[in-house]
Amino acid sequence: MWRAGMSEEIGKALQTVVERVKQAAARRPQTLPCISPRLVAVSKTKPPEMVIEAYRQGQRNFGENYVNELVEKASDPQILLSCPEIKWHFIGHLQKNNVNKLLGVPNLFMVETVDSVKLADRVNGSWQRLRAANTQRLKVMVQVNTSGEDSKHGLPPEETVQTVKHIVSQCPALHFMGLMTIGRHGYDLSKGPNPDFQMLLSRRQEVCDSLQLLLGEVELSMGMSTDFEHAIEVGATNVRVGSTIFGERDYPNTPSPERRPKVGAEEATGKMERLAVSDH
Ligand SMILES: *Cc1c(COP(=O)(O)O)cnc(C)c1O
Repeated sequence: MWRAGMSEEIGKALQTVVERVKQAAARRPQTLPCISPRLVAVSKTKPPEMVIEAYRQGQRNFGENYVNELVEKASDPQILLSCPEIKWHFIGHLQKNNVNKLLGVPNLFMVETVDSVKLADRVNGSWQRLRAANTQRLKVMVQVNTSGEDSKHGLPPEETVQTVKHIVSQCPALHFMGLMTIGRHGYDLSKGPNPDFQMLLSRRQEVCDSLQLLLGEVELSMGMSTDFEHAIEVGATNVRVGSTIFGERDYPNTPSPERRPKVGAEEATGKMERLAVSDH
């Protein structure tokens, strides 16, 4: 998967995305908390060499959505050696039986996908057991299913406040960082602001009002390759960008283009993207 010329490609693509993130942040209305957004480079399906190259170009935050793939990449000897300050974000669906495995990942920075009180308790307990009492709390976000699609994980939006309240008051090993959503695929921005992002904003307002938190203390993780600039303009503080940095993803079970049924290239890509993002 690694070939000559790739390091230049990744370097260029990364620089472009970093620049677009900055420009989008500059377009944000003054009413929004002035937080420079964090770019999470989503490296799923991509080899360690690509992670190392992006790191060499200055990128520090990386995201993965399968526990096993994250364990493998984060423990890769080359990555451990070349990327001492790497910050791993877990952005996929987390099953309770995988919590211990995930929390053992070296340089795990944040779990963005806590989506139930039970899971929060499990992560809290596991972090308490794994780490000495005086080390840092584990940063977590609460994932909200803003689009209501069955295929998407995340809390029903109306359970956001009680879940955050539980984390803040009952999970001393966790550091509540904010709210995360994936949102529906392929929303047409010409129809106006993305309703998933608006929903996340209004849930944040509710959380802040109910729990007496400042807006600036509750992050929003929303926006991917196709819509990260829009997400930042409306208030994202954390964007998760994969294919625009690392190139389109190949999935082992997807038929090669020649053998795929006759659909337009765009539609085929759309299908792969949906596969990629529905965090089964
Ligand atoms: C794959 C993935 C992304 C990145 O998707 P791109 O469209 O490649 O930018 C972001 N968030 C989650 C949760 C993902 O699974």
